[in-house]
Amino acid sequence: MKLTVLGYYGGFPYQNIGTSGYLIQSGDFNLLLDCGSGVLMSLENQLDPLQLNAVVLSHYHADHIADVGVLQYYWQLHVKRYKTSVLPIYGHTLDSINFDKLDWPDSTKKMVFEEGKTSKIGPFELSFTKTVHPVPAFAIRIREIETDKTIVYTADSRYFSGLTDFSKHADLLIADTNFFSAKTGPIWHMTSTEVGTLANDANVKELMISHLPQADNLNELKQETEAAAGKNVKVILPAVGEKIEIS
Ligand code: ZN
Repeated sequence: MKLTVLGYYGGFPYQNIGTSGYLIQSGDFNLLLDCGSGVLMSLENQLDPLQLNAVVLSHYHADHIADVGVLQYYWQLHVKRYKTSVLPIYGHTLDSINFDKLDWPDSTKKMVFEEGKTSKIGPFELSFTKTVHPVPAFAIRIREIETDKTIVYTADSRYFSGLTDFSKHADLLIADTNFFSAKTGPIWHMTSTEVGTLANDANVKELMISHLPQADNLNELKQETEAAAGKNVKVILPAVGEKIEIS
């Protein structure tokens, strides 16, 4: 499978780079993981959004769903739209107001995912675990069934031990790394050191730091992460449009 970075900042877009969004492809199946601010324009540089087969949303904070509305309009209004299919958008049901918005007439259809159950979506099998965040949010484990390769996405979370088991032996871990190691006090995201430790404890192969702060020294954030992750984990600083083959 192949992952393409569409946006990686936390909170708000900055200097032409959007918030969370990743395109995950296997064969001709196109899965969008989170749909933050700026993600639709970034996606249009990769493919026609009408080619999406499914969307999965980790939680309903604006920096993860800001472009869902315009994606729904794209599917509703685009001249090339064939009205024979609707786009499934998977979300949790712990916030019914936001969940119900995933339905849009003749365009998108709300679909449920639940912790403890797997969802088969095209060539992928997805599982979910609730994270520690001010609103319900779910880390997502995506397994390509044919190859048994896995991507784990922490979504947004404070560090908690359950993330280690959930991330075990992932081929690629995409982790909320919103803070430098010096951050103190109560936090709802992880620090570079926590993410590096998580990746090391879970024996992942590659670690992409994400949900990044709008800082000009992100290489330092990467170096802090590497120091905690150890030499067996390759740490990746994302770039929009960057593609990673997981095979
Ligand atoms: Zn959040």
